[in-house]
Amino acid sequence: MPSGRTHDRITLWTLPWVAGMAFWQTRSSNITLLITGGFLFGGLMFGPDLDIYSRHYQRWGWLRWIWLPYQKSLRHRSFLSHGPIIGTTLRVIYLCCVFSLFGLLVLLLAQTLFNLEWNWQTTGESVGKSLIFYATEFLALFLGMELGAMSHYLSDWSGSAYKQFKKKGVAGLLASGKIKKGKVSARIRKPSRTKTSRSSSRSRVK
Ligand SMILES: [Zn+2]
Repeated sequence: MPSGRTHDRITLWTLPWVAGMAFWQTRSSNITLLITGGFLFGGLMFGPDLDIYSRHYQRWGWLRWIWLPYQKSLRHRSFLSHGPIIGTTLRVIYLCCVFSLFGLLVLLLAQTLFNLEWNWQTTGESVGKSLIFYATEFLALFLGMELGAMSHYLSDWSGSAYKQFKKKGVAGLLASGKIKKGKVSARIRKPSRTKTSRSSSRSRVK
């Protein structure tokens, strides 16, 4: 599969195309900005490789630790991180959960320290209202992030397919699906091996 550097290049080279297509389809500079912003975010630091010690992970800087539980619970290149739509959806849900937990702690602290007037109902209502009000904007942002992630897993898959093709020709391409299935069932049978393979692959910076 391509290196982190190649993934970055693919993201940056495809950015003008994404921006052009978005503006052509929407005729809105705001939506185009959200899609391209989401695309950059998804391609450079919110991508599928957050399931491993990678460039994506490193770019979170001092906040990178928030992705440790995510890495611990997912196998590298699993369907839940590298699957179309499901990968981005899960990461969005995960990040929202982490940030709302932070927000909740800050609000609780402010309430006890400064006697702040705040209740669950009004907070929930205002969050719900802004979600509905800015639905198009959120959707555009999500679409951008998904496109950014898509450029990643498409190049991952085509990279692997090309390797198989170079090694064994068309037969290698056809067999790769069967091999993958075999590997998965072997992992299910031997959970102890999964751990070692996961930690060894994590130690490599992609
Ligand atoms: Zn990947």
